[in-house]
Amino acid sequence: MNLLEECKGAERIGISGHIRPDGDCIGSCMGLYLYLKKELPQTQIRVFLEKPAEIYRCLSGIEDVDSTYGEQKKFDVFFALDAAADRLGEAQAYFEAAGKRINIDHHISNARGCGDVNYVDPQASSTSELVYRLTAGRPLDGEIAKALYLGMVHDTGCFQYSCTGPETLRAAAELISYGFDFSRLIEETFYEKTYLQTQILGRALLESIRFMDGRCVVSVLSRKTLDFYGVGPQDLEGIVSQLRSIKGVECAIFLYETRGQEYKVSLRSTQKVDVAAIASYFGGGGHARAAGCTMLGTAYDVINNLSLHIERQLDGEEKPKTGSALAGGDDEERRAECI
Ligand code: AMP
Ligand code: MN
Ligand code: MN
Repeated sequence: MNLLEECKGAERIGISGHIRPDGDCIGSCMGLYLYLKKELPQTQIRVFLEKPAEIYRCLSGIEDVDSTYGEQKKFDVFFALDAAADRLGEAQAYFEAAGKRINIDHHISNARGCGDVNYVDPQASSTSELVYRLTAGRPLDGEIAKALYLGMVHDTGCFQYSCTGPETLRAAAELISYGFDFSRLIEETFYEKTYLQTQILGRALLESIRFMDGRCVVSVLSRKTLDFYGVGPQDLEGIVSQLRSIKGVECAIFLYETRGQEYKVSLRSTQKVDVAAIASYFGGGGHARAAGCTMLGTAYDVINNLSLHIERQLDGEEKPKTGSALAGGDDEERRAECI
């Protein structure tokens, strides 16, 4: 796909990413936004995202992000980044109505793409890496490079997770050559936590429970606990990765209650469990080693249902198949509904 070719003739271009935007979602959207603004100075370019967390204030152009979704006029081209259309939240309507829909993503659960033009590579570390690839041959600047680098750092856990490849590191090398303070960027957006975030992390770790001979670990935060600490979804990032780091753990589960008996589920695995297959079964998606979904029921029901699938994979009873392949299984086992 040739980015600038696809945007040729467009007067209005829109960009958005998934709900509860993470570092890659924000980095890829801002990187693409800044790049298109630089290359197409005559074109109106808008970027829509749910309100980015404070840590992302360091990115240039972040104040242009529209979180009100008040726009009415149709876009000639609309980009869905780091997600399929059904995770764009309020921006989904802009995407569906656009003259041309472009989808750039790296989720295996969205392997076919959802646009008129798709650039989906499940092998890529991040959508930011894909945006970088698409800018090949054109000069960037320090601000574009910083946004894309941030996205790559967040989705690779600072270039540690198995999604990191030689191409990722080559891209990172190129990006830092534009001369931004990457060390500070990593410290301030990836490692640094507020005191509250540290407290809730501690609480989640303290109350975690290991099962399946220590191969699985789960932690649940109820609405009541979240309200007590006054924390939101943006304060919970990193908890599930910390659970996965426990020695002997093959699969980590982290749940938090979004409303009464509705849980946002995060799954992480080390080597064996294909968590994308499990999340897809329950109506979500993601990657083989990091995936998520939303489930209804009591926490006990949710954990029971998830652990059945994890156990089957660990015992080798079930060949993991990502996507819809697991759908249509035994409904009786589903005491918690998926949405
Ligand atoms: P999380 O546990 O929310 O950090 O998500 C882990 C990975 O799975 C990220 O790449 C998410 O974008 C992806 N993911 C989470 N929830 C969903 C969902 N409902 N559908 C598709 N992908 C998801
Ligand atoms: Mn993401
Ligand atoms: Mn991503």
